[in-house]
Amino acid sequence: MYRPQNLRIPGPTFVPQAVLAASARPMINHRGPEFAALMAAITRALQDFLRTKGDVLLLTASGSGGMEAAVANTLSSGDKVLVFVNGAFGDRFFQICRAYGVDARRVDVPWGRAVEPDLVRDELAKEKARDGAKAVLVTHNETSTGVLNPLKEISAVVRESGRLLIVDSVSGAGAVELEIDEWGIDVCVTASQKAWGAPPGLSMVAMSEKAWKAFDRSNLPKLYFNLQTYKDALDHGSTPATPANTVVIALQEALRLMAEEGLESIIKRHRDLALATRRGIQAAGLGLFADEAHASPTCTSFRMPARVDSRNFMRVLRDDYDTVIAGGQGKLEGQIARVGHMGFVTLQDMLGFLSALELTLKDLNQPVEAGVAITAALRAYAEATQPPAKTPVGSRR
Ligand SMILES: *Cc1c(COP(=O)(O)O)cnc(C)c1O
Repeated sequence: MYRPQNLRIPGPTFVPQAVLAASARPMINHRGPEFAALMAAITRALQDFLRTKGDVLLLTASGSGGMEAAVANTLSSGDKVLVFVNGAFGDRFFQICRAYGVDARRVDVPWGRAVEPDLVRDELAKEKARDGAKAVLVTHNETSTGVLNPLKEISAVVRESGRLLIVDSVSGAGAVELEIDEWGIDVCVTASQKAWGAPPGLSMVAMSEKAWKAFDRSNLPKLYFNLQTYKDALDHGSTPATPANTVVIALQEALRLMAEEGLESIIKRHRDLALATRRGIQAAGLGLFADEAHASPTCTSFRMPARVDSRNFMRVLRDDYDTVIAGGQGKLEGQIARVGHMGFVTLQDMLGFLSALELTLKDLNQPVEAGVAITAALRAYAEATQPPAKTPVGSRR
């Protein structure tokens, strides 16, 4: 029997009915005028949300494909680069570099902690001994641990060094503050099934002028992912190969809904719901995994009670309460669980998750008082969303 699930994994995210309906429209010719109009509208909307006037290219690929394109289009074999790794996705960036024969040096940061700008500065200084790294690769929002790296500050350090900055913002863009042009990000990757609330299938890659200069010098093999072909095709309102047509149409509808809400309130909603979620989880007696100072607005990781395996915990949550979350990745498997709150997520979604969490803990004989998680979440949310106190009239100068 079909029962609606509260799908709370960090992607694919919930897709609104209007977006699903858009994806069910009849096929259109991807070399025709309808598609050209669609591409123009989507590109403009993505540029608005990513805060860039530069190129944003739409690839039919998952986020990893966009990451691979970022590397293959800007680097050359033997190039020295620095990859900061504080989770599974940072590791993926490193593996992609290795696969392409890039001379990548990885800087590991304990999982659950953020990549600090001072570390980036120190490591860049060390690179001088090997003639300097050509590029810095960093994950914006490390979904595997629930950490938001301080990208604005990291960008400032990298910009000062003159290096190329390549960013995986697959699970950050469209939900957290991100200023591609102002911060000086050269390549930025995101994907349709994360905060954009569309089905999986598309990766978006933003390229700066400096990134295109790097493209001109890059000698890594590329054909399907050659970004010049995407740029040329876009000038004619199309894509080099057949795109995931239905996802493109869905994405346009999702972007329309997002524009209605406005970027600023989207960012605030994510921040407030993440806070409410963290407070609820803590009130249920569970520990947060990520450093709270850098807690992700789109994904929260938390520890299991002693002697509870996260796989068992997630099974009860799914089978008995129709709530689906993610486990730990890589070395964190079985140890933590992760709940996603990105895209078209509401307070009710998170309260539903927290009530399922309470019930599951009770089923697993964990002491938890009924309603504590929800109460704590509601209280935190109310505090976060109340209008800011007005300046008392008498204090005006
Ligand atoms: C989801 C995600 C990716 C890409 O995953 P795909 O499954 O290839 O779409 C990359 N980086 C981060 C941070 C992610 O959250």
